[in-house]
Amino acid sequence: MHGQCYRCDVSPCTKEQVANSMAYIITEPCIGTKDAACVAVCPVDCIYEGDDQYYINPEECIDCGACEPECPVEAIFAEDSVPEDWQPFVEKNRAFFSA
Ligand code: SF4
Repeated sequence: MHGQCYRCDVSPCTKEQVANSMAYIITEPCIGTKDAACVAVCPVDCIYEGDDQYYINPEECIDCGACEPECPVEAIFAEDSVPEDWQPFVEKNRAFFSA
């Protein structure tokens, strides 16, 4: 462990940057859509298919934002921009990976 993350080729992030980073969250509109355009653009392959929607692994997401504009139903938000009604999806995304 070198205390830095090299999972993308943008620039190495320090341990502190990794600890402070948010994740992107997939919300309600993905349910019944599951377009998967986000999966194709994610540089670290951290978007996984669930039964009802796709999920972003918060431990692996490098917060690059590449997936957000690709979603045809605008289901993806930075964690601090998730609309109030869809706040439960923040926990739902996390819970998917701790099951
Ligand atoms: Fe992948 Fe970047 Fe989207 Fe995170 S923000 S899920 S790393 S494309």
